[in-house]
Amino acid sequence: MYLIENRREEAGVGARDTIGGHPILPASESWPTCQCGERMVLFFQVDIPPNIPEFGGDHLLVFQCPSDNDAVGVEGIREQLPERYWDVPPVWNDPGAFWRILLHQDGTEPADDVEPHLRPYRLSLRPSTEEVTVWQSDHDPVKRQVGRSEFKIGGVPSWAQDPESYRCACDAEMVYLCQIPIDMGFEKHAHQPEQPDTSSSDHYGLFLGNEVYILACPAHCHPAAAWPVTQN
Ligand SMILES: [Zn+2]
Ligand SMILES: [Zn+2]
Repeated sequence: MYLIENRREEAGVGARDTIGGHPILPASESWPTCQCGERMVLFFQVDIPPNIPEFGGDHLLVFQCPSDNDAVGVEGIREQLPERYWDVPPVWNDPGAFWRILLHQDGTEPADDVEPHLRPYRLSLRPSTEEVTVWQSDHDPVKRQVGRSEFKIGGVPSWAQDPESYRCACDAEMVYLCQIPIDMGFEKHAHQPEQPDTSSSDHYGLFLGNEVYILACPAHCHPAAAWPVTQN
């Protein structure tokens, strides 16, 4: 398990582990645009360490629209995600794809443009030990295992509610990769507008500040074959 840490050192062009900065995109993808027309914000990107099962060596990027900010509530009880769920997510109120999560191993150069909303910081990944808590609620015959609530790659998700699992459109069982803790703030440039529906005037957040668990397709059937589970 790796903790993702921000030591508040400014990230320059070519930095691969960053908040904001210059995205290193898959060869087949350009900077994502929301269905509302706005270019999405690069919240963070990291190289996945080689010893992380299924995704070692991948580059992970997480984008969300600067204006659309919501949790991700899957319509109905469904574990099978439909075709092109990354473009047309099966989400309540049909908000469209206001986020994009990308994974790839392409040898691409950083984008010329820099993320304009967020202050660019270098991230570092520090190996750490997961601490798993086992518990069992009165109404549930199944014992739960939860890890630490941290900004982290790998380890065990610290499910705030029932664990969720999904099957990719390609039939592969999605695998947990990365967790973003509740109310994690990403510092914005002073001149940028406040993010809608957020509690912070100087930070942006992902998915309304929910605890976020990124699941991804281990078959890598598409660079955007990933799913954000949001809970609180
Ligand atoms: Zn939007
Ligand atoms: Zn897949």
